Amino acid sequence: MTERRHIWQTWSRTVRCRPAQWVAPRVEGQIAEAVRAAAEGGLGVRVAGAGHSFNQLACTEDVLLDLSRYTGVLDIDRHAMTVTVRGGTRLAEISAALDGAGLALANIGTLDAQSVAGAISTGNHGTGIAHRPFSAQVAALRLITSDGTALDLADDTDPELFRAARTSLGALGVISTVTLRCVPAFNLRSVPGGERLDGLLDRFAEWAHSADHVSFGWLPWTEDVATRAWHRTDEPPTRGAGRQRYATTVDEMRCGLAGLAGRWRPAAVPGMKRILASGAPTEYVDAGHRIFSFPQPIKFLALEHALPLESVPTALRELRVALRRFGAYSPYSVLVRVGAADDSPLSPAYGRATGYVNLTVPRTARYTEILRTAEHLLRDLDGRPHWGKAHTATAEVLRPRYPEWERFQAVRGKLDPSGMFCNEYIGRVLGPVDAARQVYS
Ligand SMILES: Cc1cc2nc3c(=O)[nH]c(=O)nc-3n(C[C@H](O)[C@H](O)[C@H](O)COP(=O)(O)OP(=O)(O)OC[C@H]3O[C@@H](n4cnc5c(N)ncnc54)[C@H](O)[C@@H]3O)c2cc1C
Repeated sequence: MTERRHIWQTWSRTVRCRPAQWVAPRVEGQIAEAVRAAAEGGLGVRVAGAGHSFNQLACTEDVLLDLSRYTGVLDIDRHAMTVTVRGGTRLAEISAALDGAGLALANIGTLDAQSVAGAISTGNHGTGIAHRPFSAQVAALRLITSDGTALDLADDTDPELFRAARTSLGALGVISTVTLRCVPAFNLRSVPGGERLDGLLDRFAEWAHSADHVSFGWLPWTEDVATRAWHRTDEPPTRGAGRQRYATTVDEMRCGLAGLAGRWRPAAVPGMKRILASGAPTEYVDAGHRIFSFPQPIKFLALEHALPLESVPTALRELRVALRRFGAYSPYSVLVRVGAADDSPLSPAYGRATGYVNLTVPRTARYTEILRTAEHLLRDLDGRPHWGKAHTATAEVLRPRYPEWERFQAVRGKLDPSGMFCNEYIGRVLGPVDAARQVYS
C-alpha cells in the first residue's frame, strides 16, 4: 500500500508537493494502520481525494493518504433512502449507482469527478435557494482519528462533533465512510435565458427564488448575463439530451482557446470570445445529475466567495468597475449561484442565505492578478472563501467571519491534540491546534 511515487499534484497542476510517504489504502484497516504509524513516527498526515481543490489543502511533505483506491458503494437502503460509500468514491459513481436504484442526490455542483469526502470537507455546493451545501446531505460518517480509532458520527450520536466534521478540511481525521440521504430520482428542465445585468441585480432576491436551481454567468466587459433555471419536472428526457451536457464542456474549450490568445494580448480576449461564440443554448430535460454537472477537461484556476445573499448585487457592481479598470479579461464568465443557510461551523454558508460568486481564469500570472483584485473586494463584503479554491485569507481574517469558530477549534483540540492533520495551509487558515480548548459543550 505504500508506494514509491514522488510528486503529487492537483487537477489544475498549479499546486504540487513531494510527500515522504505516499500511502494508497484499499481497506479501512490500512488507513488506521497508516495513521498509527505516522503518530509513532511523529509525522503529519494529509488526505487526498481526487485532487480537485485549487490550493495546498491536501499537500504534505510527510504522509499523504491517497484515497483514490479506497472507493465503492457499500450499501443502498431504498427504504431509508440512503447510500453508504467509501470516502474516496467519486460523486459520478454514486449518482450512477443511485440512478439504477431509482434514487438520486438532491443537489451537486458543476463537477462530479471529486471524491465524496473531498466534497464534504471543503463546503462544496451546487445552486438552489432551498439547498444547503453538499455536506448537509450527510446522514452519518465514520472518522479515523489521530490515534487510529474509528468514530461513528451522526446527528443523534454526537451532534456537535458531527456538525464540525461535516466541513472539516481534513483537519479532524480521515473520513472513512459516508452515508448520504437521497431523494427519489428526478428530472430537471433546463431553461436558458438572457437579460441585462442591472435589471437582474435590481430583482436579485426575487430571481434567486424563481426556480429550484438558478445561476447566471456574466462576462465583465459586457452588460448582459446568461441565466439558467432548472425546474423539477415529470417529463422524460428530451431526445438528444446527452449531447446538451457537452455543450458547456465545448464552451469551456472555447474559453481555453481565448485564454491562450490572452496570454499574448489580454485585450484580444473579448474579440476572440465573439469569434468563438456558440449558438444560443436550448431548453431540454434530462436526469438531475446529468444537468447539474458536466465534464471539465480544460485546466483553469478558480476563486469563489460565499456572500450574504443581499450583498451579491453590490459585489457584482463593484466587480464591474474593478475588473474593467484592471484590463486583463478572463475568457470565463463570473458565475453566480445561490444556497440556503448551513449550520456546520466552518461552512461558508454558515447562518445565512448565501450568494456564491465564482471567478475562473486561465492559469497564467497576469490572470491570477484578477483573482487578487476580486478577492479583496469580496472580502470587504463579508465574503467567506471557498476552502478548496484559490485565496490568501489567514486565520485572523477568517475567525471573525465564523460565529462558531471557537467551537470548531475546541473539537479540533479534542480530536487532533498533536496537530497531526495540520499542514502549512491548515496552519494558515485555522491557526495552531490548541489542545487546552478541548471542552466544547
Ligand atoms: C473543474 C472543477 C469544478 C468545480 N466545481 C465546483 C462546484 O461546482 N462547487 C464547489 O463547491 N466546488 C467546486 N470545485 C471545487 C472542488 O470540488 C472541491 O474543492 C472538492 O474538495 C474537491 O474534492 P476532491 O475529492 O478533489 O478533494 P481534494 O482536493 O483531494 O481534497 C480536498 C480536501 O478534502 C480533504 N479530504 C479529502 N478526502 C478526505 C477524507 N477521506 N477525509 C478527510 N479529509 C479528506 C483533503 O485533506 C483536503 O483538505 C470544483 C473544482 C474543479 C477542479
